[in-house]
Amino acid sequence: MNNSRRDLLKFAGISAAAAAVTGCSAVAGGASNTASDTQTAAGKLLGKHQVVIIGGGWGGLTVAKELKKIDSKFDVTIIEKNESFMSCPFSNANLGGLDGVNLSMLTHDYAQAVERNGYSMLQTSVTGIDRVNKVVHTCKGAVGYDILVLAPGIAYNYKEQFPTWSDDKIAKARRLAPGALIPGAEHIVLERMVKNMDDGDVIITVPSGKFRCPPAPFERASMIANYMKKEGIEGKVIILNETASIAKGAAFKESWNEVNNGMVEHRDNCRIIDVDFDKKEITYGQIVYKDEDDTEGVKTTKTIKYSVFNLIPHNMSNPVIEMSGVATTPDAFMKVKMATSAEKPVSFQTQSDASVYAVGDVVGHAIPPSGQTAIWSGKECAKEIAHVLHGKSYSVASSLPYKSANVCYSMVNGNPEEGIMVNHEFMVAGPVIGSKGSVPKGDEANNKFRSTGLGKATRDWYRGAMRDLFN
Ligand SMILES: Cc1cc2nc3c(=O)[nH]c(=O)nc-3n(C[C@H](O)[C@H](O)[C@H](O)COP(=O)(O)OP(=O)(O)OC[C@H]3O[C@@H](n4cnc5c(N)ncnc54)[C@H](O)[C@@H]3O)c2cc1C
Repeated sequence: MNNSRRDLLKFAGISAAAAAVTGCSAVAGGASNTASDTQTAAGKLLGKHQVVIIGGGWGGLTVAKELKKIDSKFDVTIIEKNESFMSCPFSNANLGGLDGVNLSMLTHDYAQAVERNGYSMLQTSVTGIDRVNKVVHTCKGAVGYDILVLAPGIAYNYKEQFPTWSDDKIAKARRLAPGALIPGAEHIVLERMVKNMDDGDVIITVPSGKFRCPPAPFERASMIANYMKKEGIEGKVIILNETASIAKGAAFKESWNEVNNGMVEHRDNCRIIDVDFDKKEITYGQIVYKDEDDTEGVKTTKTIKYSVFNLIPHNMSNPVIEMSGVATTPDAFMKVKMATSAEKPVSFQTQSDASVYAVGDVVGHAIPPSGQTAIWSGKECAKEIAHVLHGKSYSVASSLPYKSANVCYSMVNGNPEEGIMVNHEFMVAGPVIGSKGSVPKGDEANNKFRSTGLGKATRDWYRGAMRDLFN
């Protein structure tokens, strides 16, 4: 690879961007740009709001904006731990080194959204929820509510996946092999690792169970391969998938075969046994099945070296959900159980508490955990809450079925820029919202899933989503 180019990347831009996105401890005592943040000592009562939303991500920002659009007199506040917004969507395009894509395209200043949309925002971390007294406890004090919306996104479940790992080893995994599925500094760390890498392999793991944005690890593989090719870095991108399932599978495989020429290698049914982060070595078990009737398979244990490791751990609902004490599903992800009734067969109200709603990746509906879905659920949830505050009733079922509820694009090539897509229809499916997905051909004339049209649509979708959240 071109050395002067790589050295430039090592020092360019990263530290400025890192300063823009900080973790909870750094912001706990920091200043906020809002009306409600008038007192800063922990334990004080900071006041009460009609609607309090926990989480200023894709779901939470949408609920707040929609409520204020429906009735500007609603008193709405968001509690968010990060100082600024960072998008997970399009972060893979940044790893891919696509033209004009950089960290500043992924980050946004919350002050703009507060100013334009009229809600308030308290920048601090939620530490507890008292549903009896309708109070949210934070690092800066307690906030009262009439209606609470839970939109905290996901957390990693290292403990479930690696029960024998010590807290120190898990901390090392977070530092040296960041999952990069959660907004914040881990996207910056992974970018720095990829852009500083020497020749060698990049390993990406894909967890079993429900996880955020199922196509994301596969898009990441395509984009990192694109970057390595562009920069002349020798090596492969190897995907160690705990299952055999690949979201948009036929479309990704088409591009790995035809665009990446064997540079992306997908391995089915691989379970990480151990990682030596100092030696940069992964030991994993793989089960190879002869055919569909083979239930036993042949088990092998392998060790591979890596240059960059993106260990995407098992996912679960953010601990805010457990803090709230609302009922969750018995699986390891702990999705929020949603209310259902004859008048409102599907809802974003929680089953446990008529004053508490949930949106985004944590919901117990059978819909994909995506930003697009978080925006849709945020809009529907806002309608439900607005009707309650106006003394009326609204049923989410009245908006279903919805044919293009989740249109999700993935970038698969940088030169030319090409994308693929999946389209989900949402419908009422018993007590929850269900979905049915299809992956259309983007270039029907050439019978290909990928197309430059879908590459452009990926960029357009991202721009539109940012406008939705921030304008
Ligand atoms: C690499 C990648 C690519 C993706 N690509 C796409 C795509 O192309 N299209 C698409 O539709 N989706 C995509 N997604 C999925 C999308 O990012 C998520 O589904 C979406 O962010 C979910 O929204 P949310 O509101 O549930 O959670 P988030 O957006 O994560 O928001 C949760 C917020 O809660 C805050 N929070 C958490 N705990 C606390 C606390 N204790 N106190 C205060 N605040 C707290 C967090 O800081 C965060 O800001 C992608 C995801 C990844 C990782």
